[in-house]
Amino acid sequence: MNSEENEFVSCPYCWEQIEIAVERIPGNQEYTEDCHVCCRPILFHVDIGEAGDCCISTTMDE
Ligand SMILES: [Zn+2]
Repeated sequence: MNSEENEFVSCPYCWEQIEIAVERIPGNQEYTEDCHVCCRPILFHVDIGEAGDCCISTTMDE
């Protein structure tokens, strides 16, 4: 079973839409990944609900 799904989010620096793979494990995840477009570090805050619903917010990692 593949628990990863791709989601689209906006980069907080350049506002480009970027695609990230999100693991569908209920709970909160936080990690940093460089933007594919402008290469600056984005802090992702991912909140997965029990039903697999997904809420992602992005902030500048400074
Ligand atoms: Zn960017």
